[in-house]
Amino acid sequence: MLKSLNSQILIGAILGILFGWWISQISDSGFAQTSLYILNLMSSLFIGLLKMLLIPLIFSSIVVGVANLQAIGSFGRACKITILCFFTTTSIALALGLLCAHIFQPGVGLDIALFKDAMASHQTPDTLTPDAFFTNFLQNTLINPVKAMTEGNVLSVVIFALMLGAVIVAGRGRFKTVESFFQQFFEMMMTLVHGIMYLAPIGIFALLAKLLATEDFAILGSLAKFAAVVTGTTIFHGVVILPLLLWIFGKISPIRFFKTARPALITAFATSSSSATMPLSMQCAQNMGVRPQIVGFVVPLGAQLNMDGTALYEAAAALFIANLMGLDLTLSQQFIVCLTAMLASLGAPGIPSAGMVTMIMVLQSVGLPAEAIAILLPIDRLLDTVRTVVNVQGDMMISAVVENYTKEEKSVEQVSS
Ligand code: ASP
Repeated sequence: MLKSLNSQILIGAILGILFGWWISQISDSGFAQTSLYILNLMSSLFIGLLKMLLIPLIFSSIVVGVANLQAIGSFGRACKITILCFFTTTSIALALGLLCAHIFQPGVGLDIALFKDAMASHQTPDTLTPDAFFTNFLQNTLINPVKAMTEGNVLSVVIFALMLGAVIVAGRGRFKTVESFFQQFFEMMMTLVHGIMYLAPIGIFALLAKLLATEDFAILGSLAKFAAVVTGTTIFHGVVILPLLLWIFGKISPIRFFKTARPALITAFATSSSSATMPLSMQCAQNMGVRPQIVGFVVPLGAQLNMDGTALYEAAAALFIANLMGLDLTLSQQFIVCLTAMLASLGAPGIPSAGMVTMIMVLQSVGLPAEAIAILLPIDRLLDTVRTVVNVQGDMMISAVVENYTKEEKSVEQVSS
């Protein structure tokens, strides 16, 4: 059944692209307006249901994930491998972003005067220096968990859930009732996710049709070269680097990965939101054979902290802006770009265009004007599609690597006992 659902999702995506393109050609007709209205309703239903589950799912999956991993003695190892993978894959993405921006030099030869109006009319949010970033981070993260849940503050919920999971472990069986409650609650949430997946073909059809019908590809204009370089490099990271790492360290073939992960990858493309896609990423990672306790720990954490596509984009975009302004960034400035882009990708929430906001910090770290994001903002909805796919792909892939290494540890323990 899941197999045929997977094919239905692909068919939904293809039909959505074709229908959206057709609607864009007859955009003034009454039929197009009515279709857009209906597409809007359909996509809101799908995204709304996914978002509804997000906070309860993250909360219960992390509490249960931490407690269960500790119970099988794998928590420490799982944590270390997860953090190592987050750091390594993001560093590779950053290096790729910089390298390709150097090779293809997008922005060189373009006149910044072309974008003067956009920059002048842009309201830049408050200055975001790395110091301010850390202060904001702490102030916005260590808050009342109930408030965080109602506001959809994912990172704050993740931290509270990690702490609760740790307390359950430290209680050595004293909090068994709470643990079983969360375990069952988590299973209920996953059952709901399973149900929502049946709506995915229609939801994805509507999301992609709406995207094609409403986005104006002509706005790429003079930014087409930059868009092509960033998108090409992001695709290279997602199609070559990540699958290779998964093959070597996760022992899962790329073909199997893409087949199983397809529903989540297409949803990420259509929604441009790692958070909204997270319930489906968890389901797909489990379908790949990753144990629920690993999925429940790695995927929600990754949806918040591991964003290769965003990091790559921010590094390449900073170099593009520098080129546009006729500035040559020194090696140490490029290193600073990498560091701040890594921080920016950690801090960006998994929602559309979040990377654009945190990019201000990257630009300012090397003295580039924050208003320059106004140049990229109009094309961001389009570029966000591919970088979100790679963000989501990284989370599922790392859960498979963690599964592989903690499984080995388990079998070694079993043999020696
Ligand atoms: N839209 C991306 C995500 O949800 C974040 C970004 O804007 O880069 O993963």
